[in-house]
Amino acid sequence: MLSNDCIFCKIIKGEIPSAKVYEDDKMLVFRDIEPKAKVHLLAVAKTHFKLLEEADGNSKDILSYMLFKIPEIAKQNGCDNGYRLIINQGDDAGQTVFHLHIHILGGENLPW
Ligand code: AMP
Repeated sequence: MLSNDCIFCKIIKGEIPSAKVYEDDKMLVFRDIEPKAKVHLLAVAKTHFKLLEEADGNSKDILSYMLFKIPEIAKQNGCDNGYRLIINQGDDAGQTVFHLHIHILGGENLPW
C-alpha cells in the first residue's frame, strides 16, 4: 500500500521525478538528491511504512529481499570496493522522510 502524502510514495508512483537506477515489483532505487558521498543511493520498499518496528509480514519479506538485492545494485553503480548501508530511524537519527529507506553510500573511502 502506498500513501498519498508521502514523497517517496509519490516517487514510486512516478508523480515526482527521480534518478532511478533499479526498479522491480518490490523495490525502487534512486539517487539521493543531496548526496553525502560520491555514490549515494536510496533503496525504498514499494509499500509504505515508517519504521522497522512497523514492518508486518509482507514488509519484512520485502526488507529481506532488499538486503539481498542491494549488493548487486551497489556494485553496478560504482560501489565495487565496498559501501555503507544506513537506515535512519526516528528523530534522533535525523530521519526526514518517514517511508522506510536504506541509504547506500560508497564510491569512495568513507570517514566513520
Ligand atoms: P532520511 O534523513 O534518512 O529520512 O533520508 C531522506 C533522504 O531523502 C535525504 O538524504 C534526502 O536528501 C533524500 N531526498 C529527499 N527528497 C528527495 C527526492 N525528491 N529525491 C531524492 N532524494 C530525496
